[in-house]
Amino acid sequence: MAEMSSLDKYRFRRDLEEIEKATGRGTELVTVYVPPDKQISDVANYLRGEYSQSSNIKSQSTRKRVQGAIESILQRLKVYRQPPANGVVFFTGHKATEADQTQMVAFVVEPPEPVASFLYRCDSRFYMEPLHEMLVEKDTYGLVVIDQGEATLGLLRGKRIETLKNVQSLVPRKHRMGGQSARRFERLHELAIHEFFKKIGDLMTEAFLTRELRGILVGGPGYTKEQFAGGGYIHHELVKKLLTPSFDVGYTDENGLREVVEAARGTLKHLDLMREKDLMQRLMEEIRKPDGGLATYGEAQVRRALELGAVETLLVSEGLRRARAKLRCGNCGHEIEATIEDGKPLDPCSNCSEDKMAVQDRRDLVVEFTERATSMGTRVELVSRESEEGELLLRAFGGLAAILRYRVE
Ligand code: ZN
Repeated sequence: MAEMSSLDKYRFRRDLEEIEKATGRGTELVTVYVPPDKQISDVANYLRGEYSQSSNIKSQSTRKRVQGAIESILQRLKVYRQPPANGVVFFTGHKATEADQTQMVAFVVEPPEPVASFLYRCDSRFYMEPLHEMLVEKDTYGLVVIDQGEATLGLLRGKRIETLKNVQSLVPRKHRMGGQSARRFERLHELAIHEFFKKIGDLMTEAFLTRELRGILVGGPGYTKEQFAGGGYIHHELVKKLLTPSFDVGYTDENGLREVVEAARGTLKHLDLMREKDLMQRLMEEIRKPDGGLATYGEAQVRRALELGAVETLLVSEGLRRARAKLRCGNCGHEIEATIEDGKPLDPCSNCSEDKMAVQDRRDLVVEFTERATSMGTRVELVSRESEEGELLLRAFGGLAAILRYRVE
């Protein structure tokens, strides 16, 4: 897949904003994610199943709207013989408008990255999480596997491996041609290898130099990869990014790319932890400054900074077990929005003091903050609990902190 330009990202983000603004009066907004390898006929069959299921919905108006939404997707499916390259996502339903009215909306999104799995959801909101996930900046590594006969270049993006180029070399096999002297053969052989390495070095420059790579993994069978990596064939800016030592793998084709990622798993994990440490140290440095520096933490503070667009990097702990919820009192009908903690009882109603608050709508806090940030173009870092610093983020800062672009009073 081609990398998304920042303008594409912006447009995509704006589309998502438009879609997520819609809320249903009831559980009646339908979302369908279709991965690229799914048969359209299977999707249609599935939807027809959901259509007949929906005849059980008690509220007549909700039932009609859900069925209308499913029908609308079934209509739209007819345009496709097969899903587009990255799959397709449908959002249809009646969104609530003023004065108890509703309006039918339908969005069709062909996403910038492949849809991972089929999903049908009927809810009071459209389900956006997988699309937001595509906007989160992912770590990218360059990949090269090489021996004397072949080389393959690729990228590791998040957990996905992309092949960029596969090149066969013209290096002659070890058999001498009749009449050639051993010395002459040796010289030609060396020369061919030199040319091949040079070519791969140039391809690396072309493919990697303009990208923001966190590192480059080189792998291959035997000693060739070391000869290549240490032989001055790689652009000096890229040499700085080589993860050493290089990795022993058996293949030099696409399988080799997968192998090298597998072999480097420990190294990559270590780099992740190092980065978390670095980020947390940056945060701590800011916090320690007498004026509070360019940092803030805690749910309310971070939420406000995000709304102001003041956040450069949002740090979210993966250990956060809270949700943002709409609560409604069963006694007096009082409604509030509040953050609730998994497994903790809800507070009594602030209006009538009865212990009758019930959750109407609930969104995981990690998801809520991540979506809020990505929709504004803010970088999000999910921080594990595996380092001391990661634990600190959860325990001392409530699992949410931000490095700021400017100070927020
Ligand atoms: Zn109440």
